[in-house]
Amino acid sequence: MSNVIELIPLGGLGEFGSNCMAVRYGDDMILVDVGMGFPAESVYGVDVCIPDFEFLEEYRENIAAVVITHGHEDHIGALPYVLKKFNVPVYASHFTMGLIESKLEEHDLLNDVLLHRVEPRDRVEIGEFEVEFIRVSHSLVDCFALAISTPIGTLIHTGDYKVDETPVIGEPIDLRTLRRYGQEGVLALTSDSTNATVPGRTPSERAVIPDFEEIFSEAEGRIFVAAFASSIHRLQIVIDVAQQFDRKVCVLGRSMVKNVEIAERLGYLDLHEGMLVSLQESRKLGDGEVVYLVTGSQGEPRAALSQLSSQSYKGLSIGDGDTVILSARIIPGNERAISRLIGEIYKRGASIIDEKRRLIHVSGHASQEDIRIMTEAVRPRFVVPVHGEYRMLYRHKEFLKNHCDFPGENIILIENGDVLELDGERATVVGKREVGRTFIDETGFEEIDGEVVRERRQLAYDGVITPVVTISEETGELEAPPEVVARGLIGLDGDGTSTLMRDMQRVVKEAVEAATREERRDTSLLKERVRVELKRFVQKQTGSRPVIMPVVVQI
Ligand SMILES: [Zn+2]
Repeated sequence: MSNVIELIPLGGLGEFGSNCMAVRYGDDMILVDVGMGFPAESVYGVDVCIPDFEFLEEYRENIAAVVITHGHEDHIGALPYVLKKFNVPVYASHFTMGLIESKLEEHDLLNDVLLHRVEPRDRVEIGEFEVEFIRVSHSLVDCFALAISTPIGTLIHTGDYKVDETPVIGEPIDLRTLRRYGQEGVLALTSDSTNATVPGRTPSERAVIPDFEEIFSEAEGRIFVAAFASSIHRLQIVIDVAQQFDRKVCVLGRSMVKNVEIAERLGYLDLHEGMLVSLQESRKLGDGEVVYLVTGSQGEPRAALSQLSSQSYKGLSIGDGDTVILSARIIPGNERAISRLIGEIYKRGASIIDEKRRLIHVSGHASQEDIRIMTEAVRPRFVVPVHGEYRMLYRHKEFLKNHCDFPGENIILIENGDVLELDGERATVVGKREVGRTFIDETGFEEIDGEVVRERRQLAYDGVITPVVTISEETGELEAPPEVVARGLIGLDGDGTSTLMRDMQRVVKEAVEAATREERRDTSLLKERVRVELKRFVQKQTGSRPVIMPVVVQI
């Protein structure tokens, strides 16, 4: 085995979400983050997808561990599915592990896997690698960058980060350790690109406090704050400002309740005695004495905020005089749902405040000047932009090249599946792996076969045809004229008298009559003949490819 490092991104490069990267050296491989993503709107009825881990099969014996940078779903969401395939140890911070445990419990995996909790500056040996965990700031707490050392050089992987010197919870980003690695020499920096198109610095988590205070001081009715359940700094701010204005906090929505519970239990949230109230207790309070912390900032129909604004959530609904604060960014693709939600809230007579009107949300990702600080601290030989759509990776490169004097030839743009080889001197793409997507049915935690998704698409666009053929069990001859039932097909009037319908019946009849003796005896063969003939005919006549499901009845 030659002494090279291979970086193989399985997800997160050229897309939003599904962050996952394989790092290989010698006989060992580690997976850095295993996230989930959200498929395009055109994937019918599928909410979630994960990287396809198929190609890792050939490295089954080499995978030494999964190392997690932080607890966002696009970094941990695929963990149960990976661990079901490859039962390897997992390394993560205390808070991240709290989220992971609750996820593994849902999948009934908790007792079968080895979980290592690590502290900032811990160093662990994993096969040929030594990994040091370095604190970074982000919208979540307890987040890491990783220093991954090998005999031929060190990689720094930033994870998601911003440079926040005054976080609400915990210590600031550990630039000192990053600089120490920079002085010792860093071969490559794989670096967050999510906000690489945004000039300047990303504001501190604290930046939202003044506007929250102002809104709370003005509001007379109830206040509803919708935020990401994982934005722990934000939750603390809402709790603190509520305390300041003598309001109690009531937490609504499954993931919000879960995360507040985990963060409080592990000591990340600072809650004053009696600060949290149940829904029932909140009803006894005056309008000016309560704030609801809720899920659903993206307009998700089943989340608390949508239900509070459209009908009711466990008997509670938003009403006249209430103030709703959307303390989150709009994730691309959710614009319509959020717009609809805002309309519903207005109908209820409540006022709504989003990030366009007040500073009530800041990003958790590095803007350009944060990227500069990171790159100057780490002083890598190569930079590999990660986490983001291709446009963001590209702008990351342009920024470093044009504004930080970083040599352009040492900024390597790669995409999912590319195999980037680092030999200590050069960085070269030496291959391409097949890394597709696996769709997940969220209700059953099951993988959805790609064929199912293709079929749903076909059903949605082209409809379905069911020819029904009745034959004699003895002779295999038609016992009655074939019937054809169709749904969602263009060119058909429902009563089945159209030319197309009569033609389809004729095609089916001819297909059966032309069938061989063997096909008549074996109904699956007969079905296939009918399907193929009908498909050919319909495609020729209409240009569409409906799903065709023949039924053969033997009497
Ligand atoms: Zn994140």
